[in-house]
This record gives sequence, structure tokens and C-alpha cells, in this order.
Amino acid sequence: MEKVKTTCVYCGTGCQLWLKTLNGKVVDTRPVMPPEFNPGKGKLCIKGWNVHEFINHPDRLTDPLVKSENGKWEKVSWEEAIDYIANYIKRVMSENPDNRRIIGCFSSAKCTNEENYVMQKFARAVLKTNNIDHCARLCHSATVVGLGAAFGSGAMTNSIDEIPDAQVIFVIGSNTNEQHPLIGTRVLEALKKGGKLIVADPRTIPLSELAEDNGGVALQHRPGTDVALLNGIMNVIINEKLYDHDFVTQNCENFDEFKEEILKMSPERASHITGVPQDKIIRAARMIGNADTTYLIYSMGITQHTSGVDNVKSTANLQMLCGNVGKWATGVNPLRGQNNVQGACDMGALPNLFTGYQSVTDPVIRNKFALEWGIEEKDMDDQIGQTVVEMIDAAYQGELKMLYIMGENPVMSDPDSNHVRAALQKTFLIVQDIFMTPTAELARVILPAVSFAEKEGTFTSTERRVQMVRKAIEPVGNSKPDWQIISMIAQKMGYSGLNYKNVEEILTEINRTTPIYGGITWERLEQNEKGLQWPCPDISHPGTVFLHKEGKFSRGKGYFTPILFKEPAELPDSDYPLVLSTGRTLWHFHTGTMSRRSKTLNERVPEGYVEISQEDASKLKISDGEMVKVITRRGEIEIKARVGHKVKEGLIFIPFHFEEAAANILTNAAVDPVAKIPEFKVCAARIEKII
Ligand code: SF4
Repeated sequence: MEKVKTTCVYCGTGCQLWLKTLNGKVVDTRPVMPPEFNPGKGKLCIKGWNVHEFINHPDRLTDPLVKSENGKWEKVSWEEAIDYIANYIKRVMSENPDNRRIIGCFSSAKCTNEENYVMQKFARAVLKTNNIDHCARLCHSATVVGLGAAFGSGAMTNSIDEIPDAQVIFVIGSNTNEQHPLIGTRVLEALKKGGKLIVADPRTIPLSELAEDNGGVALQHRPGTDVALLNGIMNVIINEKLYDHDFVTQNCENFDEFKEEILKMSPERASHITGVPQDKIIRAARMIGNADTTYLIYSMGITQHTSGVDNVKSTANLQMLCGNVGKWATGVNPLRGQNNVQGACDMGALPNLFTGYQSVTDPVIRNKFALEWGIEEKDMDDQIGQTVVEMIDAAYQGELKMLYIMGENPVMSDPDSNHVRAALQKTFLIVQDIFMTPTAELARVILPAVSFAEKEGTFTSTERRVQMVRKAIEPVGNSKPDWQIISMIAQKMGYSGLNYKNVEEILTEINRTTPIYGGITWERLEQNEKGLQWPCPDISHPGTVFLHKEGKFSRGKGYFTPILFKEPAELPDSDYPLVLSTGRTLWHFHTGTMSRRSKTLNERVPEGYVEISQEDASKLKISDGEMVKVITRRGEIEIKARVGHKVKEGLIFIPFHFEEAAANILTNAAVDPVAKIPEFKVCAARIEKII
């Protein structure tokens, strides 16, 4: 057996693992030791231990496929597939020479930094459009906007290693032990050292019970009331003068206006809105206000709302108020769901930003990229492109003629799946993936890509740590790395700026064009077991453990935004009396394309389910394990009921991994007005018995 060290492809923790190979197949996985060279500290979670199981699955796509007139898939050569695509693009572009919104690309949080860089360059340099986005839109676009506005940088401020040293850990909207298990273990380490835990979540999650058992507090708030809860906590901190006056005066701006708004949200009023007892709000506020260090963790429970940006800004307000930014064991720490969602954002797979968060509307920046890419600045798209949700809508309207999707599965991951499906049927769809997915089934052309075990490159973990991905086996069948496929299409279209010799050459170009990645070179990554954390502007820079050191925010001063509480877009009523929330489980990952092909994971949780409270179940005469119908204004699904205490009366929860009981048939496509992130966490629903 041989072994190759690489980075886990599931969540954003970035655990390092060995892939063991035998006869050209990956047959086993082991954690990398010693612990100091591994964000997972020498451990793997259940998904990590079994990450090899999907790689050689017989379902792997091995050859390019084109859909024939009768709807059947025909195997074609790479040359035929690339010709077909390039000819279509050339025709559409020549028929619509001035329309930059006729074509779009979805990049991928599962692919490497180099592949994301190549995809956004292809969109901008070859297709001449900023219509490039990816699923960060659906998970952390609110983070990029909210933390960008407050601090000047939309990433996790601090690092995973700091968690055990925090006096207080405040987890809000993150089921950390199930979604980022090895970050969850660091929270447990902090508790062992005497740290206190505050957990705010509408469900009872594993951390809620731990918080109460260890002298902390669990706040089970009504879904969508995070702003009221956070404002209520800050109200107590300000009224009891527990805030860091010096930090606020020296390093922040707009405090007085912000304070005026906070003073309107008494703990009594916050309790009335959130359903959390007033004394718990006060206890949480005093714990944070009296601690020297509070490490705040959040995830999609905060971002996936029509008030997603407001929620994120509120977490930033709280941490600035208490001087919990720019020092060890503090900060605002959004945990990224997918292995490389941080990297895909860093690489400019966004409609408004080039790599390193450089604006597409700035002519100086455009000129820099034009020079690097060998194109004319005047030919570039100078307007912000469309988001994932906007491109889907444009396809539905017949305006988006072609959509090129790399490694994403919007039929399963986007809200209101029936609408997404109808939209994708109206456009020329190209899907590049490793398995047939519900999205790929709608495509005109499918291009087989390789898995993480068959390629080289880098992923950037949730803590801004860039680590290497190494090739363990040769590509399965005739599949190819994503960057090579894109490069073949570009070449066919007459653009040679994507003809790279290897991945190292792509990273070198990223180093040149992206100041925060300036010193993260291939050579340094090969030598540095722990990877490098951005910002890392040059090759003498050691990387950055935590941002905004000593209150020196990336934007100058930290900005307090006064935030008014607003209700979610769709509230329960007499027709739909329940609130539906969606999310993930420990045993599966995202749309299930990989984890459901892992024998171990799929045996453990083979099907979807809806969590329902004992109270609602008895009212509806539903028993545990019974099949029920869940209905919203968008559609309905049949799914097994799981009756218990995880959700309170009035709330139901469905994991979105399961194609045959797809939660996103039900979800609401209403979006945050700024970040355009959909409200996956709240919509009105009802449950019916199946007679
Ligand atoms: Fe992989 Fe995340 Fe588990 Fe680590 S915690 S092994 S990165 S899934």
C-alpha cells in the first residue's frame, strides 16, 4: 500500500489525512500525525474516516456525454464535446455581441483554488461576463458583505487553535459538533479548561445541553429572531456598563447611533420577540461582558435569512462592543460549510469581485487583470454580474442562453427546486461533475471531472489556511481535472491565456494578481506542513493567525451599524402553521452526491426525515417513523417523521441531503436584499398524515 497526504474534501475545517492506495484505487484513510500539523489535531470525524469510499464508486462519470434528440445520453470523445460547446458559445456570443448577461458560470466550493481561479478567468476573459458565482451565495454571502462592512474583511477573524483558550465561547446558528466535528472538539477542550459556553439555536443541538451542564446558558430562540436576541444582549451590556469603552472609543465609529438603537431593545422586549426567558438573556450578556475573551462562532443559522447581513453585522457589533476583536481567543468566526468555500470566494468566483476581493467596477483593477490575462480592458464586463439566484431567474425568463456549472448541484441546493428545474430546462446547460446529479440529468452536455484524490492544487479552509491537495491515483476513466477541461474549451475558442503547464503555474499567477495570496507560493506550501494563512502578502511573511490586530481594522475603524429587528419573509399562518428550517446532519454532506455514495455513511442514515416536536406530533396524531406529507407554498414531499425533543412546538426541521425527499422543493427563494442569500432557515409549512 502507498499513501499520499492531502486535505479532506468535506467540511471547511481542513483536516489533513493520508489516502492509502492499492492497485490504483484509494482503499483507506488515516489522520495525519503529529497533531500540531493538522487542524483536526490528529483526528478525523466520521466523514473524514470514510472519505475514500466514494472515490472509486461505480457511479463515477468516466466519459463526456451529450444528450441526443430523443433525450438519451450518448458517449462522445473529448474533442467532440469540446467542439460542441465551443461552437455553441461562439454562436450565442456572436448573435448577442453586446449582451453580457446571456451566459453564466457556477464555480464550485468543492474544487481547488486553482480551478476556481481558472473558471472566473474563463468567464471574464473569454465569455466577457461577470456572471460568475457559486454556492457561497447560499451559505456565506451574508458574511462577506456583513463582516466586510463592519471590519473590512469578510472572513473568519481568528483561528481554530485559539478556541480552547477562550473564557467564553458563544455559538450562534452553528451546530458545530455535527457540521464541523473537529472544531466542536476544540469547544469541548475549552470547557475542560474551565471556559463557559453560550449556545443560541432554535433547535436543541448537542452543544445546548453541554452549555447548561457546564455553567453556561442555552438560548432556544424563535427562528429568524437573531437580531432581537443579539440587540437584547447588547442592551444589557451597555446598560450595565460592561462594554470596552476604550476599545470602542479608540478603534470604532458610529457608536452613538448604534447605541440609540440598542437601547430600544430591552431584555424584556427581546424575550417577548425571541421566546427566550429574560433572565437567560441577562445571564448570557453578563458572561460575555465580564469575560476578557469571548470567541464567537456562527454559521448558516445566522446567514441563511432575508436578514442575513443584519445578523452578521449584529455579531460584529457585539464583539466590537466588548473589545473582542484583534486579539487571541476572540473574534467573529463564521464556519464555512464546504472544504473550499473560503477559497472559491478568495479566487473571485463572485459576480462583483476579482480574486482577493478586488472590485470588478474599479477600472484600475480591471486594467491590472487585463494586462495579466492578455486582453483589452475595454472588452471586459465593467458591471457587477448576476448571482446564482439571479442567473436561475434569468434562465427561467429565457434571458440566460447558457449556463456552465462546475461541481454544483443547484436542483438540490437552491431554494424552490421546482423553479430551478424549470429554469435549467430552458437553457443550454453544461454540467461538469464526478457523478450524475439531479442537475446533471437536465444538461445538454456532461463533462466528467476528477475527484480530489486525482488532482493537485490547494484548498483554503475556514480559518483562511491554504493547504495542499495531492494526487493519490490517476483519473478514473477518461475524466480530467476541471481546470484542464475549462482550458480546452478556452483554447478551442481561440484564447491561449489558460494554457497552463501545471497547477503550480496557476498558483504563481494567483500570487501575482492577488495581494492577500502574494506570499502563498507552491514552493512554500510544499515546505510548510501547516499551510499558510492569508493575508500573506510576500514570501517573507509568516501568514496571519488573527485579523485586525490591536484594533487596527482592515477598513480603518470598525463600523457599528444600528440594526432594527425585522421578521422573516414568510411567517406561519392558519394554512401553514409550522416553521420549517433546513440544514445538515453529522452523517451526510451537502447535496449528498459524495456522502450518499459512501457505504458507511449511507448505511447509518439512508433516508431523509422531518423532525417534529412531541406536542405537534400528538396534535396531528403522527407517530415516530410514520411517512407524512410536508407542504409549503412551493410544493410538497413525502418523508419519514422523527418525533422528539430536538425541535420546539411549532418548528420542524429537514436535512437537505436527500434527493427523494428534497427539502428545497419546500424552501422559500426570498433573499437578503444585499447579499442575495435565500432564507433557507424559515418558511411556513404544514404537515399532513398520509391516509
Ligand atoms: Fe473532514 Fe471536516 Fe471531518 Fe475534518 S471535521 S475530517 S475536514 S469533514
